[in-house]
Amino acid sequence: MPAMKDDCIFCKIAKKEIETAVVYEDDEVIAFKDINPQAPVHFLFIPKKHIETLNDISAEDAVLVGRMVAKMRDAAREQGIAEDGYRVVMNCNRNAGQEVFHLHAHLLGGRKFSWPPG
Ligand code: AMP
Ligand code: ZN
Repeated sequence: MPAMKDDCIFCKIAKKEIETAVVYEDDEVIAFKDINPQAPVHFLFIPKKHIETLNDISAEDAVLVGRMVAKMRDAAREQGIAEDGYRVVMNCNRNAGQEVFHLHAHLLGGRKFSWPPG
């Protein structure tokens, strides 16, 4: 298992200590349904490795993050939202409203989104 942090809710999800609706999993990434969905499709993709924010990814994490994004593309296709379109969001720190300090990317789709974001 990659590095974990004991008090981190998403590390607990990665370790299956907290139940979630898992939609995808491999050795380094797990994806699950957001508990408070903001769209018909709202999944969270996380690396199993504990990385606090986007500010903290290292050069060696680039491949992991790239693979994670490709898995989000696959999930969008599987959910039938790829052609209409979808949004991928990574909130970093206070101004973006990051609530959970374990890197995660939101996959949102199934409705039209406005721009710019609030
Ligand atoms: P962020 O503002 O980007 O940090 O978003 C954190 C997201 O995690 C929110 O959309 C929450 O609804 C979601 N979340 C928090 N706890 C859980 C959980 N136990 N299972 C699924 N989603 C969660
Ligand atoms: Zn964590």
